[in-house]
Amino acid sequence: MKSRFAQRLNMNIPKMSKSWSKYCAFAGFGAALVGGSSIVLARSVAPRQKGELSKSAIPCTLGFHPELYEYILEHIGETPLQTKLRESVSEKPGAIMMGAADETQFLAWLCQLIGAKKVFEVGVYRGTTTLALALALPEDGKVVGLDLHKDGVVGETENAWKEAGVFDKIDLRIGPAVDSLKKMIDDGEEGTYDLCFIDADKINIEAYYESALKLIRKGGVIAVDNTLWEGYAAKPETRADFAINRLNEQIKKDPRVKATMLAVADGCYLCRKL
Ligand code: CA
Repeated sequence: MKSRFAQRLNMNIPKMSKSWSKYCAFAGFGAALVGGSSIVLARSVAPRQKGELSKSAIPCTLGFHPELYEYILEHIGETPLQTKLRESVSEKPGAIMMGAADETQFLAWLCQLIGAKKVFEVGVYRGTTTLALALALPEDGKVVGLDLHKDGVVGETENAWKEAGVFDKIDLRIGPAVDSLKKMIDDGEEGTYDLCFIDADKINIEAYYESALKLIRKGGVIAVDNTLWEGYAAKPETRADFAINRLNEQIKKDPRVKATMLAVADGCYLCRKL
C-alpha cells in the first residue's frame, strides 16, 4: 500500500470511476493504466445516458487530462515573478505544502472582486500565497501571515516580496496560530478582515475556523484549504482526518455562513460570513 505521502504526489492523477472506465472502453476510446491510476490518454467523450448526469459531471476535464494543469498555469494570471518563485519552491522539500497556484490566484482574484483591503492567512510556508494576496490588495492593503516559523520565507521569498513591491503590505506573526488569532481578537480586530485563507496544520483547523469567523467582517470570505484531504475527509482515519471531516460537516450546516466547496487542488470550502 502506498504511503499517504506517495498518494499525495499522485493527487493530480485521480482514479477514474468504474462507470467511466467502462464507458470509455465500450466507446472505443483509449484508456491506459499508469501506476495504478486510470488515465484516459486519448480524447474521450462518452455519451451521457439517463441518470448519468451527476456521475458524468463529477470528473472534471483535468481528471482525464492531468497534463492540462500546465496549460491552466499559463492562464491563471501570475506575474513572471510569481511564476519564478513558484517554480523554485516546487523544487524544494515539502513543496506539497505550497498552495496550488490556480487556487491561490483564484483567491487573489476574489480579493479584488470583494474589494478586500485586509486579509490574513493561517499557514504561510514559503509565502507564494502571501505574494498573490498582497499583489491583489490596494496600496494600503495588509496581509497578516501566521506561521510557526519564519524560515520558509527568509531569503528568496522575502526578496520576491520586495521585488514585487509588496513587502510593506505583509505582516508576519510568528508563533502558534491559535495564539496569534486569539491576540488579534483580544486586540479588537473582530470583524475587520475581508478574507482569510486557512491552510496550516489540520488538528487545529476547527479552532482556526472559529477564530476566523470572529475576525472576518460580515460579507467577508473564509477559504478553508484541503477540505477533500485526498479523500480522507470522507473516510477519516487519523486525528487530522477527523478534524477536517468534522469541520466540513459543521460548515455544511453552519447558519453563520453561506458556503460552497470547490474541487480545486485538494478541495477548498468557501464560506461567506452572513
Ligand atoms: Ca494546503
